[in-house]
Amino acid sequence: MQPWALVIFGGILLVSVGVVLWRVASRQAQARRIPSPLRIAPAPLAPAHPIEAPKPPRSTPLLPAIEIPFDEPDDEDVDVTKVGALDAPIVQALTNLIIVDPQAAEPEGAAKAPYLLVSAAAQTDRGLRRKKNEDSVLAMPEPRVYAVADGMGGYAGGEIASELAVRTLEHAFRTNEIFGSLHEGMEPAASQLAQAVQQANVAILETAHRDTQLMGMGTTVVACKFSPSARRLFVAHVGDSRLYRMRGGALVQLTKDHTLGEFGAAGPTAALLSRAVGIRPLMPIDVLYLAPEPSDRYLLCSDGLTKMVDDAQIAEAIVEGEDPSAIVALLIDKANASGGKDNITVVLISVLASS
Ligand code: CA
Repeated sequence: MQPWALVIFGGILLVSVGVVLWRVASRQAQARRIPSPLRIAPAPLAPAHPIEAPKPPRSTPLLPAIEIPFDEPDDEDVDVTKVGALDAPIVQALTNLIIVDPQAAEPEGAAKAPYLLVSAAAQTDRGLRRKKNEDSVLAMPEPRVYAVADGMGGYAGGEIASELAVRTLEHAFRTNEIFGSLHEGMEPAASQLAQAVQQANVAILETAHRDTQLMGMGTTVVACKFSPSARRLFVAHVGDSRLYRMRGGALVQLTKDHTLGEFGAAGPTAALLSRAVGIRPLMPIDVLYLAPEPSDRYLLCSDGLTKMVDDAQIAEAIVEGEDPSAIVALLIDKANASGGKDNITVVLISVLASS
């Protein structure tokens, strides 16, 4: 074969191979561009069972008043604003029962023993170092409910939380609007007291939820309620505000501070609260059963007193004093004389035989 013929034949061969390769490559590219039917997501099918839109949570499953239709504003007995404001469910309080006096766990029995009388004095003071008073106090001569709350939280949170706590307790016992079922095996009065504290918890949480500046606010609560004969005293307690009893010249702290110290923390952290009202939907509430006796004196106070005045000085003021108001004023003076570094709140209750 002539060399020129070889060149022509080789050129034709190269062109043919090139054309074949180009066609194969372009087919492959086309195959990549067109997705296989298997790769196409199937069109969404209607579900066999229609999915229901989530229902808004019921406001208060245990709250009988919520069952009252809101479209009946003519009923003046219905506090629609209050009921409607309760967004969080009111659930039964979590309680930790502590029988201080064994006879307090027994039924009161027939009222043969003399009924006891109760007189009380209460006072709250800003102290000397704080700009505001974040403590709140409650003294209801009837139905003999007393409470101290020591609030915390930035902005105005502390004072709002403690005030909400005592206002909720006051409202609950003035109107008997105490929601939720009674605790099984617990004295009804004790169960209601714990439930009222739980209602305060919900009120604080809701208020903080509506105003982000108040988020994280909370309060201590030490609250007590006498039975009608005053031969039983029930206490609900969360935080480090305290209840003391003076009996036979001895002052005894009956509540245990709920601080990190009880879990072994040392130094400044030991004083931090391990539980408070208004922080979480549920917190354990210590419930104490007491059996008052004539001449007992019960002291409720915030830590603004106990950080400044030691137990011996408190005992001395109570033993030497007569009038509850004078003793309360003296204790506040003593706390301020020692520096008044915190808000000071004191309630003193005297128990007397009726005849
Ligand atoms: Ca305090």
